[in-house]
Amino acid sequence: MRNPHSGAPFGETEREVAAYLADLSVPALLLSCVHMAEPSARSELLRGKLRPAGAMLNEFQGFMPEEDQEAARALALQLVLDWQRRGFPEPEPVDAAMLQEMMNFAVGGAVGPEYVPMMAEELELDGLDQRATGLLPGASGLPAIVIGCGMSGLLAAIRLKEAGFPIVVIEKNEGPGGTWWENTYPGARVDVANHFYCYSFEPADHWTEYFARQPELRAYFEQVMHKHGIDEHVRFGREALEATWDEEANRWRVRLDDGSEVEGAVLVSAVGQLNRPNVPDVPGHFDGPAFHTSRWRHDVDLAGKDVVMVGAGATGFQAAPAIADTVGSLTVIQRTAQWMFPNPGYHDAVGPGVGWAIRHLPFYGRWFRFLIFWGGCDAGIAAAEVDPAWEAQERSVSEVNEIVRTMFTDWIVGQLEGRDDLVAKVVPDYPPTGKRTLQDNGSWLGALKRDNVELVRAGVARLEADGVVDTDGVHHRADVLIWATGFRPNDFLMPMRVTGRDGVDLHEFWGRRPRAHLGVTVPGFPNLFLLYGPGTNLASGGSIIFASECEVRMMMGCLQILAEASGRSIEVRPEVVDEYDARLREEMGRKVWASPHIRHNYYRNDAGEVVSLNPFRLVDYWGWTKDVSPAEYVVGT
Ligand SMILES: Cc1cc2nc3c(=O)[nH]c(=O)nc-3n(C[C@H](O)[C@H](O)[C@H](O)COP(=O)(O)OP(=O)(O)OC[C@H]3O[C@@H](n4cnc5c(N)ncnc54)[C@H](O)[C@@H]3O)c2cc1C
Repeated sequence: MRNPHSGAPFGETEREVAAYLADLSVPALLLSCVHMAEPSARSELLRGKLRPAGAMLNEFQGFMPEEDQEAARALALQLVLDWQRRGFPEPEPVDAAMLQEMMNFAVGGAVGPEYVPMMAEELELDGLDQRATGLLPGASGLPAIVIGCGMSGLLAAIRLKEAGFPIVVIEKNEGPGGTWWENTYPGARVDVANHFYCYSFEPADHWTEYFARQPELRAYFEQVMHKHGIDEHVRFGREALEATWDEEANRWRVRLDDGSEVEGAVLVSAVGQLNRPNVPDVPGHFDGPAFHTSRWRHDVDLAGKDVVMVGAGATGFQAAPAIADTVGSLTVIQRTAQWMFPNPGYHDAVGPGVGWAIRHLPFYGRWFRFLIFWGGCDAGIAAAEVDPAWEAQERSVSEVNEIVRTMFTDWIVGQLEGRDDLVAKVVPDYPPTGKRTLQDNGSWLGALKRDNVELVRAGVARLEADGVVDTDGVHHRADVLIWATGFRPNDFLMPMRVTGRDGVDLHEFWGRRPRAHLGVTVPGFPNLFLLYGPGTNLASGGSIIFASECEVRMMMGCLQILAEASGRSIEVRPEVVDEYDARLREEMGRKVWASPHIRHNYYRNDAGEVVSLNPFRLVDYWGWTKDVSPAEYVVGT
């Protein structure tokens, strides 16, 4: 069977192909041409002078000068047409040496040997989904319950089903997608380019924007759910309230909000970190409509209204520019300014050539994915590393971090000529990348510069019938109040009650420090697997889909051990979790996210500890979750 990524035949004319090539990433196009070329001609292409000069997050053209891009497209056109004339032969596989050379070419530098296996797996040049487990003997006797049908729960359900586990998925919403089901606020879009922010085994060629908006993401997850036949296993509109391990029966019993119970051998928590709204408990009462951004009231017409938006983190940053020209006035009350990453293409449309190339040019889509991943893979972690010898820790944590500060500051200040009043308010006073860094194409500051928009740098002291009083005592009139105050990421698995072996309550066991081996397995909680659990959120790159794919593979590795041993339970050894948690703590202590100079940070719990983030390199996390060591687990038979 032909490799699914090797390009389907096409009938377009030269002119049509040339028009499509104009939409493409030239580095990915040239690499596709390497596949199309006869093996003897490949090296010549890779060693020619038309080549990327480097790689960076969201830089799709490899810093190639315009004239080189033009020349490369002209060369590619001839090679594509030649491949068409030859009848679209399936490309010969590339060997290891050629693959390394192609990767180096793609990034305009060197891809270190430890990264090659991970990047090769992402590339899927053999057309095989290497993260799939395949049918597991014994799986049919181990029914699995998945709580949550967002990106992670859907992924778990797909993998479990593929392996032969009977599954039931419990989802409190009326449809799948989690984050992308709930966040319908104007301006909601993804921050990681979509040709990477999609499952590795379900690449999509239809994205209309590089950073798709919520409706498209929601549709993607719905479509994947249908394609894999998961819908018939989901109970939508049902919330799981309690999960209890029955020691005698080796079963999890999950109680739902309608009083019914579901029983299974395996329990997967895929409840997400960002779907329980964080609405601060502010005294007073506001008479008008008030809602959280993830519960957007589309029935409230904002046209001409005075709107107060409290909070401007990742959500407010997207929502404020999207409503600024509709409302009468917009007051944004923001406690802390946000660092932003310059991304001029943040709202760019995807030209029709991209989808065409993904469908028809060998491995174009895979190399494009590779480029996006590489630009955001582990490069950012260097900027997050604290250098204890660096003096001005309150402004930056290392030399690299200071360079980032300069770059970000120039980007902000460069947009604010003549608005010194705003400069003082919007340049953050803490080290860059210490909180979630936002993607910016100028729309945030563009909105703040409008006459009908005011940025107030304060907190909220109390609500009044007709508005909000800030912590400086200033009253802001409002017809509508919007809470853009984020979520409760540190309340893992709340408000569920989870009881493990010997009646131990998960939240009591955790106390203030939720912990799990690689974020997935917890001692005393057999056959329980957490997705997007403690220590798995990412602040320096990658995507949560990549992280979840690692976690699900680890889960499947554990289940493979269980099934092969014909066991009834599998449980991580406590010392394994203790050792991992100690390493995580130590590593986190060296990262900017734990800096004492960052006062407000949703990455911190009430005790000031960062428990939600993964401080390790992605390549390490990928390697650790790839192969489960049986010695770390106890299998009960
Ligand atoms: C606005 C926004 C933008 C984001 N942008 C990015 C981005 O650009 N890149 C990135 O990598 N990540 C981003 N994220 C993080 C995002 O949450 C993840 O990428 C991903 O969607 C998480 O998927 P999940 O399935 O783990 O969690 P969720 O999407 O939160 O899904 C969890 C599901 O579990 C359900 N659930 C919870 N508790 C229960 C219960 N007790 N019973 C039944 N069902 C339950 C919920 O209803 C939900 O459907 C963003 C998050 C938000 C909020």
